[in-house]
Amino acid sequence: MAHIGIVGGGIIGCATALHLLDRGHQVTIVERDAGGLPASVGNAGLLAIPGIDPIARPGMLLAAPRWLLDPLGPLTIRWKDLPSLLPWLTRLVLASRPAEVARARLALTFLMNTAAADHAAMAKLAGISGHIRKTGALKIFDTLAARDRAFAGELENARLLGGYEVEKLDADEARRRVPALQGTFAGAFFNEGYQTFEYPLTFLRRLQASIRERATFIDAAVSSVAWTAEGISVRTEAQNTHLFDKVVIAAGIWSKTLVERLGLHVQLETERGYNTTFVNPSVTLEMPVYFGEHGFVATPFENMLRVGGAVELARPDAAANYARAAAMRKKMRRYVPDLPEHGGTEWMGRRPSTPDSLPVIGLHPGDPRIAFAFGHGHLGLTLSATTGRHVADLFGGKGDPELDAFSIRRFQ
Ligand SMILES: Cc1cc2nc3c(=O)[nH]c(=O)nc-3n(C[C@H](O)[C@H](O)[C@H](O)COP(=O)(O)OP(=O)(O)OC[C@H]3O[C@@H](n4cnc5c(N)ncnc54)[C@H](O)[C@@H]3O)c2cc1C
Repeated sequence: MAHIGIVGGGIIGCATALHLLDRGHQVTIVERDAGGLPASVGNAGLLAIPGIDPIARPGMLLAAPRWLLDPLGPLTIRWKDLPSLLPWLTRLVLASRPAEVARARLALTFLMNTAAADHAAMAKLAGISGHIRKTGALKIFDTLAARDRAFAGELENARLLGGYEVEKLDADEARRRVPALQGTFAGAFFNEGYQTFEYPLTFLRRLQASIRERATFIDAAVSSVAWTAEGISVRTEAQNTHLFDKVVIAAGIWSKTLVERLGLHVQLETERGYNTTFVNPSVTLEMPVYFGEHGFVATPFENMLRVGGAVELARPDAAANYARAAAMRKKMRRYVPDLPEHGGTEWMGRRPSTPDSLPVIGLHPGDPRIAFAFGHGHLGLTLSATTGRHVADLFGGKGDPELDAFSIRRFQ
């Protein structure tokens, strides 16, 4: 069995650690901010099985100019960062061609088909249970035309994925199911395919606690990963070197720098998202509610309500603009007038996104001792257990041929 180092202790690094421990490997996670609040703890907490549509789609390109006119709308670009984003945006446009969209949907379907079962199996590895609820989700719309367009797409996804129902609802029926929706909207649908995790911070901390019993955590920022005669070396910013038989790069958006230092290229940029979390909120939602035309979602957790989403294309280290979180609260009050304006905690997180919406899961083309597990965009929580299983299989020499779609080779 090998000693395997994992760079990054977010949801992807932790899911990978659990699978490698299960295969009998010795595991060390190198994490620079174990108490931090990365994407893995601030997300919307959804097991988003129906989410097989890549972000690059012809309809998205048509809607983008209108969205970009509203600086606090569902999609914004930090114009100062445009030059550095241009190569990614160019590839995004190419990825929106129908054949590419179909390819991405099939590839995501392959991962999604096992996502729920992989989470159940991973929970056993971590010794946890009761952390996912079969809630479904409601999507509400301002016009029936928008509802019907989205409904047709969701039906098609349900047909591809199987195992859940999608139900068209009028506004009264939606309000009967979620009475807090007292504002005006035209219609909705209920998608049974969504499930809700416990509070994402709690989930990650429970996984980390289980891993800590059997693996080592090193508190350090990794500056590079390199080959040496003795193994794969992980060098930290404090100039320490740790030597492993194999290494997994699972550092979210920050994986890009480490990959480039290994002589490879990857198109990875940050789709930043914002949200507000209310503790013991005065308003109750019976299930997650997506605000269809506004690009955000409200998720109820045990004693919390989280409202957020949207996409801001910007450099990862650019200053946060929390007016975006306030804008989503304001929009939500149109539909849920009882949502409080104050008292919530605002957060900004960085989705590590590729232009084709496919994560990078695979071995280094020149050295099978290095694996990549990053770039999960909007789906990292959903696909974490599946990714961890595949990385463990790849290191065991049993990689599924369907994983070729996720190889870093596509960016070379
Ligand atoms: C607003 C929002 C809502 C979302 N909702 C959902 C959802 O409902 N469902 C879903 O499936 N997904 C959702 N996502 C996406 C999901 O959160 C991400 O895809 C996922 O968390 C990415 O996990 P990760 O482990 O790759 O990255 P991260 O969570 O960013 O973790 C990376 C870790 O690596 C560490 N690190 C980085 N660089 C170094 C270094 N050099 N040395 C040491 N450590 C390092 C970081 O400190 C961090 O802990 C959402 C994201 C956002 C922003």
